[in-house]
Amino acid sequence: MPYSCCMDVDAELELFHQALANAREEIRAVGERLKDDLNREERALFDAYISMLDDSSLAVEVCDRIRQQVSAPRAWAEVMLEHVRRFEAMSDSYFRDRAADVRDLGARVLMHLRQQQQSQRDYSENTILIGEELTAAVLAEVPREKLIGAVSVKGSANSHVAIIARAMGLPAVMGAQDLPYETIDGADIVVDGYRGELHVHPGAELRRRYDSIVAEERELARNLDHLASLPAETADGHRVRLWVNTGLMADVVRSLERGAEGVGLYRTEVPFLLRDRFPSEEEQREIYREQLQAFAPRPVTMRTLDIGGDKALAYFPIEETNPFLGWRGIRVTLDHPEIFLAQVRAMMKASLGLDNLRIMLPMISGLGELETARKLLERAHGELVEEGYDIAMPPLGIMIEVPSAVYQARELAAHADFISVGSNDLTQYLLAVDRNNSRVASIYHALHPAVLRALQEVVDAGHAANTKVGICGELAGDPGGALLLVAMGYDVLSMNATNLPRVKAALRAVRKADTEKLLQQIMGMHCPEQIEETLRAYMKRIGLKALLQPVGGQ
Ligand code: PEP
Ligand code: MG
Repeated sequence: MPYSCCMDVDAELELFHQALANAREEIRAVGERLKDDLNREERALFDAYISMLDDSSLAVEVCDRIRQQVSAPRAWAEVMLEHVRRFEAMSDSYFRDRAADVRDLGARVLMHLRQQQQSQRDYSENTILIGEELTAAVLAEVPREKLIGAVSVKGSANSHVAIIARAMGLPAVMGAQDLPYETIDGADIVVDGYRGELHVHPGAELRRRYDSIVAEERELARNLDHLASLPAETADGHRVRLWVNTGLMADVVRSLERGAEGVGLYRTEVPFLLRDRFPSEEEQREIYREQLQAFAPRPVTMRTLDIGGDKALAYFPIEETNPFLGWRGIRVTLDHPEIFLAQVRAMMKASLGLDNLRIMLPMISGLGELETARKLLERAHGELVEEGYDIAMPPLGIMIEVPSAVYQARELAAHADFISVGSNDLTQYLLAVDRNNSRVASIYHALHPAVLRALQEVVDAGHAANTKVGICGELAGDPGGALLLVAMGYDVLSMNATNLPRVKAALRAVRKADTEKLLQQIMGMHCPEQIEETLRAYMKRIGLKALLQPVGGQ
């Protein structure tokens, strides 16, 4: 299986110079077209822009960064942002206004970069994408039918790009240190996404083992097909909502085929990550409408923009030494109400006549953020009503993914229309383990006793406030984990579409009363490995071995 490498410095430099030349040509053509309508000063501005885009000024800084393995779009965005900030800091209003022009120049070049990247890369069949730091945007560039695996030197199984790969049903290995770069080109490779292993030039025996795992997986998926139309309930009739996490349009079809009853988390940042600039309100409305329409009348929970941490927009770089504890999620959008307002307006407009929208806020760490966000939402709703839209105010919920929110879950739940646990972030913040850092990945335990206790506290607090409680982290999509969550009392489990039939199969095979006994036993344990092992043994004992991840082809 040949591979494609993401960062070829010479190719990236070439791409960049070509994008600059195209942007210069475009500005020259616009200037030419408008020349009779512009005064001398305005014409001079066009010349100034063209010279900013020549190969000797800004470009030098960008090329330096590209040579340090920064991709061309990112390098360009970083340099442009520094210049924008410089203009914005000037006391003369004329220069401050120029900051907007510089932003515009930046966006133009980014657009050319993206167009060229798409037209120049010709991916072969059976591509395994290998890169220093894979991003969602890079994954989306390869035609889905040609992509069979992904490998990233940086990141871990809990990174956002890994979650997206999993949702696409794509084997991925993150944190692949010491890649044999010299011999990997054109080599046959096995990507074992379950164990996080990479086998370059596998021998006949290893190949045979992996071929049989692939065949078993296909067989299992086929066997679970019939579950799509059956209810998600335990053998003793306890009903649970099984919803899906989406972000790409491709998730929608897969989710509906597998019997999803709603969307528990639509990651709106995905369409933002796949662009070169902030999508306009109208562009967002169209994207959201597609999602809402595809699932109607089922509910769709749209999360407001959750950038920061390991989700960086090339056109809105955030440089911080500690990004997961920095400007993330709701913090960014409350500091930029114009982004928040445009997004919730687009969501509400998109829901016109469908009435299946729920809005969810990420990274809430206290009541104040929820209250401020609710006021903004009410303002946006009021404006839309004044503009003549007949739209009901959507339910507003929050994610519980920061420890402070666990300890305030009761109050938060009382002020929210629903709550949903983001166990991926909650685990990293409770255990102080960066979800993106492969060096500490082995101590990131979604089933750590402290995490389980927090999960139980949240569901109890939510129910005490009469609020429905869901969970949309990866734990919900793990069949064993899902059994524990049902025993705790979670009302909604939201997961990737690939895992939904497995979770449903597990659920239908057990009685709630038995899962409660298992939970009680597990809650008394102190060590995550013991908990994991007990859960595996339980699954095997009740005949659900096939739903466990295969280990080493056995
Ligand atoms: C989470 O943190 O569990 C979650 C669902 O959100 P994300 O993975 O997008 O941060
Ligand atoms: Mg999160």
